[in-house]
Amino acid sequence: MNFYSTNNYSHRVSLKEAVLQGLAPDQGLYMPEQIIPLSKSFFDSISNFSFQDIGFKVASQLIGGDLPAAELERIVAHTIQFDAPLVEVDKNIYALELFHGPTLAFKDFGARFLSGLLGYFANQQDREIVILVATSGDTGSAVANGFYNVPRTKVVVLYPSGKVSDIQEKQFTTLGGNITALEVDGTFDDCQRLVKQAFLDLDLKNKYFLTSANSINIARLIPQSFYYFNAYAQIPDREMPLVFSVPSGNFGNLTAGILAKKMGLPIQKFIAATNLNKVVPEFFESKIFEPKSSISTISNAMDVGNPSNFFRMYDLYGNDFEALAKDVTSCYFRDDETKSAMLNVYNSCGYVMDPHGGIGFLGLKKHLKKNETGIFLETAHPAKFKDVVEESIHDEIRLPARLEEFMSGVKKSIKISAQFGDFKSLLPALIA
Ligand SMILES: *Cc1c(COP(=O)(O)O)cnc(C)c1O
Repeated sequence: MNFYSTNNYSHRVSLKEAVLQGLAPDQGLYMPEQIIPLSKSFFDSISNFSFQDIGFKVASQLIGGDLPAAELERIVAHTIQFDAPLVEVDKNIYALELFHGPTLAFKDFGARFLSGLLGYFANQQDREIVILVATSGDTGSAVANGFYNVPRTKVVVLYPSGKVSDIQEKQFTTLGGNITALEVDGTFDDCQRLVKQAFLDLDLKNKYFLTSANSINIARLIPQSFYYFNAYAQIPDREMPLVFSVPSGNFGNLTAGILAKKMGLPIQKFIAATNLNKVVPEFFESKIFEPKSSISTISNAMDVGNPSNFFRMYDLYGNDFEALAKDVTSCYFRDDETKSAMLNVYNSCGYVMDPHGGIGFLGLKKHLKKNETGIFLETAHPAKFKDVVEESIHDEIRLPARLEEFMSGVKKSIKISAQFGDFKSLLPALIA
C-alpha cells in the first residue's frame, strides 16, 4: 500500500517511509491510497473472532502487502495484549473501555503498533532507531511503555521539569532499559523545540537514525480502527443502527472510526464530542476551520486548539462538507455538564466515567435516537483523573494495580537545561 500526503496527492511513499517520516515533507498527513472494504462473510462471522484475529484481518486489508504476514501478525499480537470490553451503562448505551493497557489510556494501542512496526523496520537495517519524544505527559508514557524492550530501538523522552503529574512522570521515568527520561528545565514548548532542532541537525542526522513517535504518524492511527470492529463484534443486537460518540481532541480516534466505516463496518453515524475547545463543532456550524489557542478544561487530553487530524478526517470525504456532515454530527460540553454526567451515571448504575468518556456519553444523550445502539469511547481510566472524578461523584475510587506499581517505582531522570548544545552533547552517551 502506498500513502499520499493530504497536501499533495501525487506525493506517494511506501509504508516504511510514511512510518519513519511521520509528517510528509510538505507538512501534509499520510493517508492510504486505497481503502478496500472487508468481505461480507467477515462481518457475518465477526463474533467468532478474537480481538487479535480482528486486528490482524483489518491490518492485513490495509498493509498486508507491505510486510510478511507472520511479522504483521506478531505486531498485531504485541499491540493487542489487553481487552477493550463493551460495558452497558444505560438503555442502548455502552462504554467501550479502551483503558486496559499499561498506561491506562487508548494511546497504548497506537504506541504499541508503532513500536512494533518501527522495530521491524529497524531490524532491516544496520542502525538502531532512536525515537525522540517531547511530552506534556500522556504521549511520553504511552510511547515509553510501547517501546520498552523493543530490540534495536532507543527512546529519549523529554519532559518539562515539574510540569507533569506524578503519575505521568512515574510512567516514563521508572522503566529504565532502552528508555531514558530527560527532565528539561523549561516548558513543553522548549522540549518540542529541542526535538525539532535535533531533526534539523546534520551531525546528528548523519550519525543516528532519528525518528519521532508523533501522534500524526499513520502507524498510530491504523490500530485505532481495530477496536471499532471489535466493539461491533461484542454488540448483542447487530441489527440496530450503530452510533459511535468519540470524545475528541486531535481527532485521531474519530478518523480511525471513519476509516473503519470505509472498510465496511456498518456505522450509521459518528458524534464528534469536544470540551470547550470547540474548533470542530464550530466548523460544522460555519464551514470555516479556524484554529484557536487552547483553553484548560477537566478533560485536558482534549485541550487542543488546532486539531492535527482534522484534514485527515476531511480528506476521507474528499473535502466535501456535505458528505462529512452526513456521517458526523458535532457538539461540545462545559466542565459542569461533564461533572453532572459523571455523577448521574454513577448514581444510576454505579459506573465511573472519566471526564473524557463523560463527554462521549453526553454526545449520545444529546443525539442518540430511539432504536439506535450508542457506543461512547472511554478513552482513559478514571483513576488517571482521580481528583476531579472523586469530586464529581462524591465518592472515592481505587487506583488499579498497574498504577500502584508505577507509583512504587523509583524515578530515574537526567536533568538538562533547555539549551540545544547541552542536549546535543549529552545525546551520544544516552543512546550508546
Ligand atoms: C488523546 C486523548 C483524547 C483525544 O483523542 P484524539 O484522538 O486526539 O481526538 C481523548 N481522551 C484521552 C484520555 C486522551 O488521552
